[in-house]
Amino acid sequence: MEKQYRVKIWEKYVKHCAYCGQEIEYKDMQVDHIFPKYRKGENVEENYNPACRSCNSTKGTYTIEEFRERLIGDVDRMRRDSPKFRILERFGIIKQVGTKLLFYFEMLFLFNSIVDVRLLCHTTEDIVAKGNLKLKIKDKR
Ligand SMILES: [Zn+2]
Repeated sequence: MEKQYRVKIWEKYVKHCAYCGQEIEYKDMQVDHIFPKYRKGENVEENYNPACRSCNSTKGTYTIEEFRERLIGDVDRMRRDSPKFRILERFGIIKQVGTKLLFYFEMLFLFNSIVDVRLLCHTTEDIVAKGNLKLKIKDKR
């Protein structure tokens, strides 16, 4: 893949991993096939996402929904299989805080939709923190 094309993919989410949202250096960026190449996903721009090494290797040949289910299911698998996980949870060192997962690119999409609504009607307040999306809608009329 040509460098200028890779740079374009890297800038798709302003140099962040499409999945976890971590900022990535160009040299560390991996090009993920959103619909896996292994399953005949096409080599076209719309099918590429910039990904960090961890997300790309964990996603592997999964689709977006399979990747999401895999990550959510990992908590129960770790709880079941790892005595260390269970003891860390028992001592309150780790705590499951949710069972839903939005990827970074999905949060950006949602955020952009909210901003558009806000610009149109001036009635929406939003608070978006990385990895923790909270929406507060307030009607000022
Ligand atoms: Zn990532």
